[in-house]
Amino acid sequence: MAWQIVIAGGGFGGFYAARALERLLPAQSAHVTLVNNANFLLYTPLLPGAAGATLDPRHVVVPLRSQLRRTDLVVGQVTGADPASRSLAVQRIDGESVDLPYDQLIVALGSVSRTLPIPGLAEHAIGFKSLADATTMRNKVLNCMDIAESLEDPARRTEYLGFVFVGAGYAGVEGLAELQDFAAQAIQLYPRCRAHGMRWVLAEARQRIMQEVPATLSEFAEGELRRRGIEVRTGTTLREVTGHGAALSDGETVPARTVVWTAGVKPSPVVARLGLPLDREGRIVVDRTMRVDPGRLPAPREASGVSGAGAVWAIGDSAAVPDSSRPGQPCPPTAQHAIRQGRQVARNVVATLGGGRARPFRYRTKGVVAELGQREAVAITLGIRWRGFPAWLIARTYHLLLMPGTGRRLRLLVDWNVALVFGRDASSPGVLGSPTSLRQD
Ligand SMILES: Cc1cc2nc3c(=O)[nH]c(=O)nc-3n(C[C@H](O)[C@H](O)[C@H](O)COP(=O)(O)OP(=O)(O)OC[C@H]3O[C@@H](n4cnc5c(N)ncnc54)[C@H](O)[C@@H]3O)c2cc1C
Repeated sequence: MAWQIVIAGGGFGGFYAARALERLLPAQSAHVTLVNNANFLLYTPLLPGAAGATLDPRHVVVPLRSQLRRTDLVVGQVTGADPASRSLAVQRIDGESVDLPYDQLIVALGSVSRTLPIPGLAEHAIGFKSLADATTMRNKVLNCMDIAESLEDPARRTEYLGFVFVGAGYAGVEGLAELQDFAAQAIQLYPRCRAHGMRWVLAEARQRIMQEVPATLSEFAEGELRRRGIEVRTGTTLREVTGHGAALSDGETVPARTVVWTAGVKPSPVVARLGLPLDREGRIVVDRTMRVDPGRLPAPREASGVSGAGAVWAIGDSAAVPDSSRPGQPCPPTAQHAIRQGRQVARNVVATLGGGRARPFRYRTKGVVAELGQREAVAITLGIRWRGFPAWLIARTYHLLLMPGTGRRLRLLVDWNVALVFGRDASSPGVLGSPTSLRQD
């Protein structure tokens, strides 16, 4: 009988685990099922490009069915799990609830924005984690300009032309830089807004932006943002968001209709409903091979008919995988770690099924790239630091090589080059996906 391998989550970790399993396992020996709440992998490092309109939103995703040939894709929501009967609870896209039995479960459910109990944050701010967030940001910038252009009152116009980002990790900085670059081009089409001017503020609680890169590169990135007129406020936190502005800890309330929250992530909430051991941050506790300690799982329930060896593994942002390069700490939540963990966990699953030994996950970050728009970036590759145009070329080449599928790469190339020659697209098709009603009343 074929082994049942179920992967929960089809992002970087889950997708690369499925791809490696397809390669490593003979077709008859195992049946691999991937459950994801969308039929695509979201290539998050390119989200800033979608928000900044250098990339079509559809081109920053990878359709899972076109890349996975032997994996069964179930589009639906993972809602829970019962490790005692080795089953994963899923609500399929058609609304039906099903329990998927497994011998081996790989949890790769990723993360969501980590919010704080700041008044007005949930009501008025936007996160930056999904395709919808990126599209909303882009549309919002244009809608704000359309409204500001029509207003007679300069004070109200100031609100619509104020943009505040909170959190200056690379995701926040890249998002802000791309969006500001986009807005700086788009505003040329709005004479009144152009004369009035925009205001962009980046607030960061720590003393420097982009903690992921060395201080020299974060200084370069900060200088680049300031050169464009972006106000960088380090050591500053958000106190309150209203529909009209963002109150900061330095005492100023910045008039702004757009507040974007990019201050960290936490594991997907459903992870807490899987009956697995969690650390204080809510991540699944695993050993160095990425396996959940069988001693911390409930014994198989007799009535469930479960027998033989089973295992639960967890990878990516939702797991606390011990970091071999920083003893005592978990791996950082990055795509580069999730991809490698996905490949390694597949090898470990195959080894376990074949009676072999699972190997520990070992990886040292090889580099970081962060695009800043305007053909600027910062990057570190194999210890070498890059900035400016060479870093920008490295960043784009890196994403081009990493994007799965030749067709997807070509789409990126075309989008980037069209934007370079003709500028960024300044339309805001916010109604896409909302069909016109046929009702006559
Ligand atoms: C804007 C942005 C930019 C980034 N840039 C970089 C970068 O340049 N370099 C880098 O290394 N990292 C980057 N990251 C971080 C990177 O995206 C994550 O570390 C990586 O995606 C983690 O992989 P994962 O497999 O754990 O989770 P994900 O890739 O998020 O995959 C999780 C999957 O599970 C699905 N899912 C979640 N809950 C459920 C559920 N209940 N049921 C079914 N499916 C579910 C999700 O929809 C998703 O498809 C960036 C992140 C963001 C937000």
